Amino acid sequence: MPRRTIDIAFTRAKVAVFLDGCFWHGCPEHATQPKANAEWWRHKLDRNIARDTETNERLTDEGWIVLRFWEHEAPDRVAERVAAAVARQRRVRRPQSEGEQ
Ligand SMILES: [Zn+2]
Repeated sequence: MPRRTIDIAFTRAKVAVFLDGCFWHGCPEHATQPKANAEWWRHKLDRNIARDTETNERLTDEGWIVLRFWEHEAPDRVAERVAAAVARQRRVRRPQSEGEQ
């Protein structure tokens, strides 16, 4: 089942990472349309995608950087991009978060 929680959260850097399943979240390369109960599935999968968008917007409004990856993406590429985003955010956020250390 798709989750609404952040898969990996770097709370101090405010970077939220989601690893989305190709089927559940409608990957453009691997999404499939089940033939049995097609209507029900289409509705369910559309709702997942709408919820993803809403979650992104909510987090962005709260100052988070949202990174989403598909389950088919190479783990080392994903790790590199996450590390780069966290490092960048830590640099950007340091001036105003000095007091929290
Ligand atoms: Zn995929």
